[in-house]
Amino acid sequence: MAGEPQADCLFCKIVAGQIPATVVRESETTVAFRDINPQAPTHVLVIPKVHYADAASLAAAEPAVAADILREAAQVAADEKIVDHGYRVVFNTGSGAGQTVFHAHAHVLGGRGLQWPPG
Ligand SMILES: [Zn+2]
Ligand SMILES: [Zn+2]
Repeated sequence: MAGEPQADCLFCKIVAGQIPATVVRESETTVAFRDINPQAPTHVLVIPKVHYADAASLAAAEPAVAADILREAAQVAADEKIVDHGYRVVFNTGSGAGQTVFHAHAHVLGGRGLQWPPG
C-alpha cells in the first residue's frame, strides 16, 4: 500500500527508531533530524513518517502531510534562529538533482550566506 514503510529505506528505519538520528523535532506525521553530512551550520532534514519516493508523490497522495513538512521546516528555522539571516528549504527530486535517499524529505539549510542559483 502507498505510504507503507519500506524494508530497504534508511529514512523509514529512522522513523521506526531502528537507526539512530539526531532528532530535533517530531510531530504526529513528521520527523526532523540533523543531516549526517551537513552543508551549512544548520542542515536539518524534515521527513514524513509515511514513505513516498519524493515530494511530488507525497504531495499528490497526502497533501496535508506535504503541508506539515513545510510547517515543520519553518519551525526548525525558527528553533535554529536562522530566520532573520535567511534560509532555504530544498526538495531534491531525482538523482540528477542530488536526491540520494528516495523517501521524500526537505533539506532546511541556513546559518551562512547562500548563493543563487544553487550548483
Ligand atoms: Zn522510507
Ligand atoms: Zn537529501
